[in-house]
Amino acid sequence: MLIDHLNQQLLERAAKGLQRQRRTTVTACAPQQQVCGGPHAVDAQPRNMLGFCSNDYLGLASHPALIEAIIEGARRYGAGSGASHLVSGHSQAHDALENLLAQWMAPAIPQARALTFSTGYMANLALLTALGDAQATIFSDKLNHASLIDGAMLAKAQVQRYPHGDLAALERQLLACPTPLRLIVTDTVFSMDGDRADLPALLELAERHDAWLILDDAHGFGVLGPQGQGSLADAGLRSERFILMGTLGKAAGLAGAFVAAHPVIIDWLMQTARSAVFTTAAPPALAHALLTSLHLIASDEGARRRAVLQRHIGQLRSGLQTLIGQHPHLGWRLGASDTPIQALIVGDNARALDLSTALDAQGLWIPAIRPPTVPVGTARLRITLSAAHSADDIQQLLAALRHIARDHT
Ligand SMILES: *Cc1c(COP(=O)(O)O)cnc(C)c1O
Repeated sequence: MLIDHLNQQLLERAAKGLQRQRRTTVTACAPQQQVCGGPHAVDAQPRNMLGFCSNDYLGLASHPALIEAIIEGARRYGAGSGASHLVSGHSQAHDALENLLAQWMAPAIPQARALTFSTGYMANLALLTALGDAQATIFSDKLNHASLIDGAMLAKAQVQRYPHGDLAALERQLLACPTPLRLIVTDTVFSMDGDRADLPALLELAERHDAWLILDDAHGFGVLGPQGQGSLADAGLRSERFILMGTLGKAAGLAGAFVAAHPVIIDWLMQTARSAVFTTAAPPALAHALLTSLHLIASDEGARRRAVLQRHIGQLRSGLQTLIGQHPHLGWRLGASDTPIQALIVGDNARALDLSTALDAQGLWIPAIRPPTVPVGTARLRITLSAAHSADDIQQLLAALRHIARDHT
């Protein structure tokens, strides 16, 4: 009965072009990888593929210094943490990481303290459930990441969603808000479009309506700001109202996440957030290696990697814009983004899948992103760039897309 019930739904999803597939990588995270599976891999032999799909924006995931640091961390602290942070899993490495992250965020958040989590998903659940009590209303951008949406659903607070980036609509909701606590929740860099929230205007709104700002900087941390310290450093803003979540599995190249905020907020999370309290602490070796990652991000090498990334973004965008201009009948659209997330929006699910499959045939790995990850009718290729790409890699992608566009003429 259960199996039939699920099978029926799986078939319905497949008929809508929503079936998802995993592939297996055989080599380290990098633009060139050996990969098994996918639409053209009938056998299990790995193929060489050029990928534009990881969130390893700075190319640190396979950096020799981080690999060494994990090994050194494991030698020093062992392989596992053994328990949750509140029991006995909180190591000196976790502590040093939290202190360094707090120091990084202090220019933007007065007296900032930081708390680490095993994943960004868990950090967002923690934030929204621990702060979103019955006294609160959560105001959430409609294109926020799934972890924020899930956190809002689990919270006791009322939830209002505002149209993407529509601060006038948000202000109307704030004006009508009956609860004493107001939490505005937004991605800083939106994960499927790469566009950015207007942080100065959001802060002004928060001040005017006595609200708090929960910011998800998953795609800004490491990438934006003069030393990679993220969206707040980039915007040059400072306020006690900021509650910032950053992930450590994307630009930072490892895994984990943190929240930085006023000390009382951090204490409250540590005491009460269930996804922090009732889970085993991440291995201390990871925290140890993250210290190395943060030093790299803030170093000259980090700045060089960010400069390379910026050049790649410019190269890809100008190439795509030319291509779209030459083939307007295809109905392709390039999202407005100055970040390493570039959305080539094609519309319906089948077309996005076909495009991804055609690229796959040329050895290019770029997933089709479909609903519910993005709104219906905006299926797309989500192209992500890394400092580990070369200018030739981007030329290769553009050439493949030109080839496909010509075939459709
Ligand atoms: C990836 C992501 C998360 C989740 O972070 P993980 O560490 O991968 O669990 C949260 N928010 C946004 C916007 C993300 O892109």
